[in-house]
Parts: sequence; C-alpha cells; structure tokens
Amino acid sequence: MIWPCGSLADVTRGFWFPSDGYYLKKHYAVDLGKRVTWGTRIASCLPGKVSYKAYDPVYSGHYIYVDTPMGDGIVIRCCYRHLLESSPLKVGAPVAQGQIIGRVGATGDAQGPHLHFDMWVNKPIRDDSIIWKARVGRYAVDPLIYLGQEVCVTKAEVEKIVRDTTLTHDARVKTIPGWIDALLANVGTLNEHTKHPPA
Ligand SMILES: [Zn+2]
Repeated sequence: MIWPCGSLADVTRGFWFPSDGYYLKKHYAVDLGKRVTWGTRIASCLPGKVSYKAYDPVYSGHYIYVDTPMGDGIVIRCCYRHLLESSPLKVGAPVAQGQIIGRVGATGDAQGPHLHFDMWVNKPIRDDSIIWKARVGRYAVDPLIYLGQEVCVTKAEVEKIVRDTTLTHDARVKTIPGWIDALLANVGTLNEHTKHPPA
C-alpha cells in the first residue's frame, strides 16, 4: 500500500492523537503535513473504485473515498480529505494504485495544507487496533500498519499482521521492519500544520 504523497510521508498527527474535538475523542486518521503543500498531488494508496466524493465546509472540505474489495466481503475504504478542489474523478470510476486522485489543500477544518487520510473496514480485521465508529457504521484502521507496504495488501498479508495477538499495538507496528521505524520516530515531534496562504 503506497503512501499517498510518495516520499512526503511526514505524519504530523497520528492515529491515536487525543482531542475532545474528534468523534470518540481521538484522531483515528493520519495527517500528512510538513513537506506537502498547496497542490501536492495525491496518489491512490490502493487500487479500487471511487465510492463517494463531496464537499463539507465544516470538517472534511473536499474529500473522496476509494473502496478496495479484499475478498470475503471485506472492503477497505481509503479517505482523502481537505483537498484543494473537488477530485476530477467521478463516483464509480475505477482507480489504479498510484493514480492521482486529487491535490493537497486546506478546505474544511484545516489550519494549513495537509492530507487527512483515514482508512475504514466494514468487518473487523484486527482485534485491538480497530475502532468501531457507529456514526459511520465502519471500523477505523490505523493506516500506519499498511502505508509503505509497496504492494497492494492482500487478505493473507492482513492476516499475517494480525496473527500475533499477544503483541501490543505499538509492538505489533514495530515488527514491520524498516519503513515504520523512522516514521514513528517523527510522530509527536513534528509541528502542527502552519497556517499560510497558497503560494
Ligand atoms: Zn487529521
């Protein structure tokens, strides 16, 4: 599963970030900020199909959902929010992994240009790190488990990750070698998005 802004993978707010401002009081998403800016292109993390797009001036701004069927009725939904403008793709359009689906902006509730990326599943695929969000009828999944796996995740890969139920969430993440360690080292030390006008 590829990073949506390629190597611009600075997580400025992680999945478990607590705030009373969020539904269920945690972020349950990742924000990619710092090196992304107005107009940075956003690639689809997974192949799939556009299932929804809309504009919400209060929270999400311009946003788009891409759904990926995983077999056994499991569908992963990837959500890309605060886009600069409406995605050029239409609902129902097929999407290739890596295809540009929009550009980074700060529409909706955003203090500066960043991509708010959240991932949902319709059935539980993990025991302790997915969160049931009744309001949307799906489970939130920590994208950091999957981002940087440079291939489309398969059901077998998902099961490999979830198999060891004795690990804590953090330990389980860190068992995925290499790519995640440098990222986690940055989480919590990066600044929040800085407000500035489009160039
Ligand atoms: Zn966010």
